[in-house]
Amino acid sequence: MERRELFSSLTSSLRGESKEEKNSVLIRPPYNNDESLFLKHCHECDAKCASVCETDIIKIADDKTPYLDFSLQGCTFCDDCAKACEYGVLEVEFLQNIKADVNISVAACVAWDGVMCMSCKDPCIDRAIIFQGLFKPVIDENKCTGCGFCFNRCPTYAIDIIGLAT
Ligand code: SF4
Ligand code: SF4
Ligand code: SF4
Repeated sequence: MERRELFSSLTSSLRGESKEEKNSVLIRPPYNNDESLFLKHCHECDAKCASVCETDIIKIADDKTPYLDFSLQGCTFCDDCAKACEYGVLEVEFLQNIKADVNISVAACVAWDGVMCMSCKDPCIDRAIIFQGLFKPVIDENKCTGCGFCFNRCPTYAIDIIGLAT
């Protein structure tokens, strides 16, 4: 699948369609260092990570594994999902940035078209969205944690977030 197709696939899924239907890479909670553990253990669990997530962004896929849905909120890296996991799939000590690629579509972003819009800037507490002058925002990959808080702030759906394979 081409990268652009993957973008389109995942963002549409985040906006309401099932990720599983689109066969996209799921965005996992930020406390796993071995993808195989999800399939090995999560079917035995009653989705404890999802039940404790303070922003309610952990959803459970058809294969019983958890993924993050940024359509309403983002991840605060609160550790609660890792603390709740009794199978070692998520561990606090494995905390890392969320394995996702975050991009702003130049074609869809109105600030790239000369309109004053900074809707995505404020929710980014990591200051990872860099405006060139007052326009042309880009994501600083070195600062972006993949938290997803910018995603639903964009009025033109110009922010794409895709899961990355581990
Ligand atoms: S770290 Fe907290 S906010 Fe993030 S997915 Fe886990 S429980 Fe949810
Ligand atoms: S709490 Fe752990 S074992 Fe249970 S669904 Fe979440 S990641 Fe899987
Ligand atoms: S740019 Fe990255 S760090 Fe900033 S809000 Fe968006 S996902 Fe989070």
